[in-house]
Amino acid sequence: MNSVSTDICIIGAGPVGLFAVFEAGLLKLRCHVVDALPQVGGQLSEIYPKKPIYDIPGFPEVLAGDLVQNLMRQIEPFHPTFTLGERVEGYEKLEDGSFRVTTIDGTEILCKAIAIAGGLGSFEPRKPAIDSLADFEGGKGVYYMVRDPETFRNQRLVIAGGGDSALDWTIFLAEVAKEVTLVHRGTTFRGAADSAEKVKNLHEAGKVKLVLSSNVTHVHGNGQLHGVTITANDGTAAQVEADSFIPLFGLTPKLGPIGEWGLELEDDAVKVNTVDYSTSEPGIFAIGDINTYPGKLKLILCGFHEAALMCQGAFKYINPDKKYVLKYTTVNGVPTL
Ligand SMILES: Cc1cc2nc3c(=O)[nH]c(=O)nc-3n(C[C@H](O)[C@H](O)[C@H](O)COP(=O)(O)OP(=O)(O)OC[C@H]3O[C@@H](n4cnc5c(N)ncnc54)[C@H](O)[C@@H]3O)c2cc1C
Repeated sequence: MNSVSTDICIIGAGPVGLFAVFEAGLLKLRCHVVDALPQVGGQLSEIYPKKPIYDIPGFPEVLAGDLVQNLMRQIEPFHPTFTLGERVEGYEKLEDGSFRVTTIDGTEILCKAIAIAGGLGSFEPRKPAIDSLADFEGGKGVYYMVRDPETFRNQRLVIAGGGDSALDWTIFLAEVAKEVTLVHRGTTFRGAADSAEKVKNLHEAGKVKLVLSSNVTHVHGNGQLHGVTITANDGTAAQVEADSFIPLFGLTPKLGPIGEWGLELEDDAVKVNTVDYSTSEPGIFAIGDINTYPGKLKLILCGFHEAALMCQGAFKYINPDKKYVLKYTTVNGVPTL
């Protein structure tokens, strides 16, 4: 079992969770960040990496993906650690007021405070309605996200979907896998036109099989996936051998397990006190899109403000006897941890 020990466990590597690492670092608090997605950046990386944002102070215009990269650079001096691709499930409060946070894959994070920066909740994959799909989840051949492309080296893959994820991973995995078949129910793709063009070129070069106007309708195997049935819109069906099937039909956000933690909620968001963004459970804070209070605005800049005040609250919770004196970064620079 993986076990990590830190000062603050930040749940969510969106912009607000990442900036919280910076604010915590200024107070010499170490952070471990956990995200259910395989990459950092939250909605910015998952939904709109190429869109310009115009309301980040000091940046007249910044691409969402670039903002995430800048945040990662900004927190480098504090050496945060990350667990990516694992959803946080539960927590236990220990006798000394510290916490044990656990993920779906059994990683445990021992921490002195928890900052929930879970945004709209954890993104859950949209699963196609195929019988016995669940029998092949958990490493047995059906994957809803590509966490590590090496998993698929030299495999025969069937990818399904018509959006950016399906196109991007088809292009990337064409270099890694032995064989890639992309199945799409339509004839045109929803994803970026240049990615669709690249997939068509790979198909013409014989590097990708493209099956349009079709759906994957059955999965086959015996404990491990051996193949899938692809049914065309006109009803003709063919069985294809496959080591892995990757349906990429997008992700939907769900508050998920944090909704069951017994914290005071309102409209699927965690209620907080705006002095320090503490929740109804001492030592647990909530910042960014996941929290609610009178006047709440779901904006990145508001989340950054909340992160700064939350860290003051976490500092006091962790060090009840220490007094904190505000120091400007222009005077003190950025300390390292
Ligand atoms: C298309 C679009 C355009 C936008 N444009 C702007 C804009 O111009 N300006 C602006 O200020 N805002 C904009 N927003 C809103 C902005 O993206 C959000 O306010 C911001 O992403 C909130 O950041 P966050 O860190 O709170 O949450 P998120 O970015 O949602 O990140 C939360 C992370 O927490 C993770 N998570 C949740 N639960 C768990 C769990 N149990 N275990 C592990 N991980 C978990 C999720 O996987 C996710 O990665 C836009 C949003 C969209 C969709």
